[in-house]
Amino acid sequence: MSIAETEIEKLENGDCNENNVFFQALEEVIRSIAPLLESDPKYKKYAVLERLVVPDRVIKFKVTWFDDNQNVKVNTGYRVQFNNSLGPYKGGLRFHPSVNEGILKFLGFEQILKNALTGLPIGGAKGGSDFDPKGKSDFEVMKFCAAFMTALHQYIGPRIDIPAGDIGVGGREIGFLFGEYKKITLKYDGVLTGKPFMFGGSLMRPEATGYGAIYFTEKMLEIENKEPLDGKICTVSGAGNVALHAIEKLLQIGAIPVTCTDSQGMIYDERGLDILLLKDLKLEKRASLEAYLKTHPDAKYIPISEYPEGGHAVWNIPCYAAFPCATQNELTEIDAKNLIANGCVSVTEGANMPSTPEAIELFLSQKICFAPAKAANAGGVAVSEFEMSQNASMQKWSFEKVDKKLKITMRRICTSVALTAKDYGVEGNYVDGANIAGFKKVADAMIAEGI
Ligand code: NDP
Repeated sequence: MSIAETEIEKLENGDCNENNVFFQALEEVIRSIAPLLESDPKYKKYAVLERLVVPDRVIKFKVTWFDDNQNVKVNTGYRVQFNNSLGPYKGGLRFHPSVNEGILKFLGFEQILKNALTGLPIGGAKGGSDFDPKGKSDFEVMKFCAAFMTALHQYIGPRIDIPAGDIGVGGREIGFLFGEYKKITLKYDGVLTGKPFMFGGSLMRPEATGYGAIYFTEKMLEIENKEPLDGKICTVSGAGNVALHAIEKLLQIGAIPVTCTDSQGMIYDERGLDILLLKDLKLEKRASLEAYLKTHPDAKYIPISEYPEGGHAVWNIPCYAAFPCATQNELTEIDAKNLIANGCVSVTEGANMPSTPEAIELFLSQKICFAPAKAANAGGVAVSEFEMSQNASMQKWSFEKVDKKLKITMRRICTSVALTAKDYGVEGNYVDGANIAGFKKVADAMIAEGI
């Protein structure tokens, strides 16, 4: 039995099987790094894999707050501090009813390798709560955030652990969290990233993940000798921070993004999406996508009740490049078959692990250019690190400077992933390339730091 197979068996029998999505992420990485484990005995000798798959600590806490009717509400909060070999713990907070320890362990584990790929000095973490900001007043969100930070503040700090946003946590929530942190600790420091610009946020942080995914795709298409995105039909899922900024960048470079989705349905506008309207609907008014039809009656809206069995309407639309940017496992094997049958050439994961393992298998076997999340959506955390640098040096960089640094970072990640894949005999496989390159950086640091 190979080292990788032994490790997978151990994980299947151990506590890592407690949640499928975490196990799914681990299994993919272990399979990718098999050649590295076989060829270099030091990783086995220092039990790097066994150490890496267990978080340094999982902090779990009760969050008690009052709603607007003075009812007492109770949620669970978490912070998974996974690995700080390369730098302080860093990763987002997710507020969504589906949040549990397993999902956060999956996201935290992915974050370790993603952060390593950026080449920046940051470790991996993730956190959040099963609190649902949807339908809550600003005041309720504020009270929840204050209670969440009251419980969390003692475990974080600019040199310890620096949370940021994720699903359900944007500038509004980060602002409330920061306000409470200041109040409790009396410190005004870079403890959170994704802050509004007026109190220490970096320009371009909101745009970073979406723009970064497009920069990565441009470089990948260049390396793989495919036609650029200019003038090409693109499909995007999601209508949040990542999706809307991916759409915005696609429009800026002359591509034609025609779809977006939210948790209720999909908009298909074959002439190209109206990004200003989408931003107003989803980021300002927090409305349903269906409202897009009021001013664009020629567009189509398909509610999720009408999605094809086992698949998603958005991946039935013919496109040159697809960008899943909503959530995990939102692109299934059926969806992958539809995309390939309709001539799709490139798939870039803006969300974390949006494609199922079966879908990825198909993309790789059919030689579709496939950009995995931990490489393609690293732009957000890269600009978060730029925000930390600006906070530490009391500087504010221009939009152009951050954008330029982001573009360089994404193109560098893409090149290093492609070269690693080539070095390990799997040219064109960006999944293996990203897993090997990220693992190697963290593993070598873990060995150098001792047990
Ligand atoms: P947002 O909360 O801004 O948007 C999420 C979008 O996805 C919304 O349109 C939401 O619909 C939709 N969505 C959420 N859950 C589901 C679901 N279960 N089924 C269908 N649709 C769903 O989140 P972000 O854009 O920030 O994050 C999107 C993805 O990108 C996540 O996987 C996140 O981990 C990842 N990511 C985000 C980064 C960032 O910088 N924000 C950085 C790196 C990765 P609705 O509007 O109806 O709620």
